Order: sequence, then C-alpha cells, then structure tokens
Amino acid sequence: MEPPRVAESPTETRERARAADARDPLASFADRFDAPGTYMDGNSLGPLSEDSEAALDRVVEEWRDHAVEGWTEGDPDWFHYGERLGAKVSPLVGAREAEVAVCGSTTANIHTLVGTFYDEANGGADVSAGDANSVSGAATADDPGSILVNDLDFPTDHYAIRAQLRQRGLNPDDHLTVVESRDGRTIAREDVERALREENVDLLFFPAVLYRSGQLFDIEALTDLAHEHGALAGFDLAHSVGVVPHDLHSAGVDFAVWCHYKYLNAGPGAVAGLYCHEDHFGIRPALAGWWGHEKETQFEMRRTFTPAESAGAFQIGTVPVLAAAPLDGALDVTREAGIDAIRAKSVALTDYLVALVDRLPDAFAVGSPRDSDRRGGHVAVEHPEAYRLTQALKDRDVVVDFRPPNVVRVAPAPLYTGFEDVFDVAETLRALHESGAYEEHEPRSGGVT
Ligand SMILES: *Cc1c(COP(=O)(O)O)cnc(C)c1O
Repeated sequence: MEPPRVAESPTETRERARAADARDPLASFADRFDAPGTYMDGNSLGPLSEDSEAALDRVVEEWRDHAVEGWTEGDPDWFHYGERLGAKVSPLVGAREAEVAVCGSTTANIHTLVGTFYDEANGGADVSAGDANSVSGAATADDPGSILVNDLDFPTDHYAIRAQLRQRGLNPDDHLTVVESRDGRTIAREDVERALREENVDLLFFPAVLYRSGQLFDIEALTDLAHEHGALAGFDLAHSVGVVPHDLHSAGVDFAVWCHYKYLNAGPGAVAGLYCHEDHFGIRPALAGWWGHEKETQFEMRRTFTPAESAGAFQIGTVPVLAAAPLDGALDVTREAGIDAIRAKSVALTDYLVALVDRLPDAFAVGSPRDSDRRGGHVAVEHPEAYRLTQALKDRDVVVDFRPPNVVRVAPAPLYTGFEDVFDVAETLRALHESGAYEEHEPRSGGVT
C-alpha cells in the first residue's frame, strides 16, 4: 500500500489522505471499534471492539449459568482456555500451536522464561549443581555467564531479569550485560555482535520493537548471532505482536513473551502470551504451578509436578478467564483483517506520518528509523516541548503519549486509524507549535518538559 503523497497545500494534502482512506481495504474495520477521539495510543492500550465485548459477555453469561461447571461446559470450555487461545495467537507469531500459551502478564512471563532458560544455559535448574549437558556449552557451574539486554529496554524487563539473577545468588551488575545506544534512539547491530563476542553471554533477551523510538530488530539475525556465540535467544514482542508479523519457529527463537492489550486490543491487563520452541518442551519452568502440569493428570492432584509437553507448562495458576475472553474476540478481528494486510497499512501510515513530520517546523524531528523495514508500528515525534504538546493534543481529542525526555509517541494502529487521522495529528502539532497554545499546560514537574 502506497502512502498518499504530501502536496504543497494542506487542503490538497487532506484530499489525498481522504482518497487513500477511500481505497483502504481495511477501512471498514474501524466501525467495529469504540476509540475515543483521534486515537494514536493503541500501542499503550488498544480500544474496545464489539467482538471483544461479545466474547466477554458470553463468558459472564456462562459464569451465571454454569458456575463451576463452566470449566467443562463453557463454549469453549474454560479448562483449556490458555492452550486454545495460544493456538489461536500462534499464526501471528509464526509458531506451532503447542508452542504458544496465553497466561500471566508479560513481566511474570519474563520472570519464568528468563529464569528457566538462564538455568538451562547453565546446565539445568540448579545452577550450583553443574551439568556437562549445558546447552550453551559456554558457561560452567562455577562461572555463570551474563544475560544480554539493551540500554533502551522497557524498564520492567530489566527489573524482572535483575531479580531473577539475585534469586540465583548472583550480582546483577556482574551478570547483566547492557548494550548501550550510541544515539539515544536505536541500538546498533555491531554493538550487539561485539558484546556477544567479548562477553560470556548465556542468554540474549531483546525486544522486537523498542518502545520509544520504534526501532524494529531483525529477530532471525539476532537469534543466529546469539546461537553462533553459544547463547540462547529470547524476545519481548509487546510492541510488535498484532502489527508486525513474526516467524519465531523457523527463526529458531528459543522463547518469547508479549502482552495482548496493545495492538491486539484485548483490554486493560488482559492475559499475556508466551512462546517456547518445541525443542525445549519438557524443560522445567522456573516458576512452576499446577496449571502448567500435564493436562490429562492435573486433577489427579499428584505431589510431583509433571510439566506439560507444550508451552502450556509455563502457566502458573488458574487461567484468568475474564481477562482472557476479550482476546478471543479481538483475535477474530485481527485474523479477519490478516496480519500481512495490517503490516502493509501500518507501514503506509507511518511512512506518511514521517513525511508529514518532515514538513513541520524545525523544532520537530523524527526519532524513529526512516527505513520502514527497521520500524515497528509507531513513530517517535521529538520536540523540546513534547510533554506539554501531549497534554494539549489530549485537550483537542488527539490521544498520544509522552515518553521522556522529548518524545510524543504516535501510533496509527491500522485497524481503526486512517490517513486523514494521521494528517490531523500533524496539523494539530503544527498549530500548537505555531500558536504556543501548549503553554496553557504546566511544564512537567521536575522542570523537564
Ligand atoms: C508494555 C510492555 C510490557 C508490559 O508488561 P506488563 O507485565 O504487561 O505490565 C513489558 N515489556 C515491554 C517491552 C512492553 O512494551
């Protein structure tokens, strides 16, 4: 899909945006969503669709009608909810059905998967015991290697990983290797490569898309690099799932986590997702619980834990059915639209936004990669008054978010956003800058705007 060209006059540019909307094969999907205002914050919380609401209502009715019998009488039954939804998500991440489970939160899933795979790289669940069958071969029991992350990661990822290291009696300052950004926006592949070469890395854990600049990494290339250096590779897809297609299985990715409330529109705090490559089935989860037990014998209530031979092994407690149901409906919308068509429209929308920001006054800058192959679903619009601009945009029903120190994050999500919406955002930014109307808002406390 080609983005509309930017013309000299705003009127003509708007007309071209409207014409592009009229040609857009996904345009009618917007009717299924209730998105307040010009909604450009779907990478923080996607809006409600009628499909999600209907799926949630159905579970509430089943609860009313069946109570405990819903575990078997629900349609679909609640007992297999996490596995069934996992299978339904699996094409979006390019995984086999059994390789995906829907459970927990992104952060909890980072805890269990990073913990598990770090132990695996160090010879199994008990790091101190040592084991000649270490997967990476690089680490020994006396010398656990490090976990490789980057400087621009979403903070919760580091909080969880540092906590996992501490729980193994290790100092996170010694066992977390952080690739630094050169420009404050992106991470250079050569720097990842150098860290893998020079440090004793057991596990690479990277996002698919950086939450602030939107840089999209080449997951397959990073996985190959990690494996070449004897490290395992895991990814956080929170900012890509539902807007960028993935191929986790064929790329040989060891494990991945993501949430469903951003581009997948499953609602606030919706249950999250995880992937484990089938070669690792049977691995012992760092955080075990009865819901990860082999399904057939789970209710025999044995005292020993037999992990399921699937990604389902990483479930901990009872699947939160009410927090999972909206995902069921949301996935119908995404699957109907098709992830490749969603990505094609997303690229056109962000290319268009980049072209429009380039025409704004010099105080504005594009803080995202210009090459769409290296960009996820949002654009970082930089401005020294980003904080106050974000507030002023919200007053004018344009919903975006601010990320310190100077980024207005604009996410034109393809299922409910059109080219004219993108044009409106750029024009509102221009008007606010030129009039100085954002000064009606207080600067951000701490003096940083
Ligand atoms: C949104 C996001 C999270 C959120 O984690 P929760 O446990 O769902 O709160 C984690 N990591 C990244 C990279 C994110 O973008």
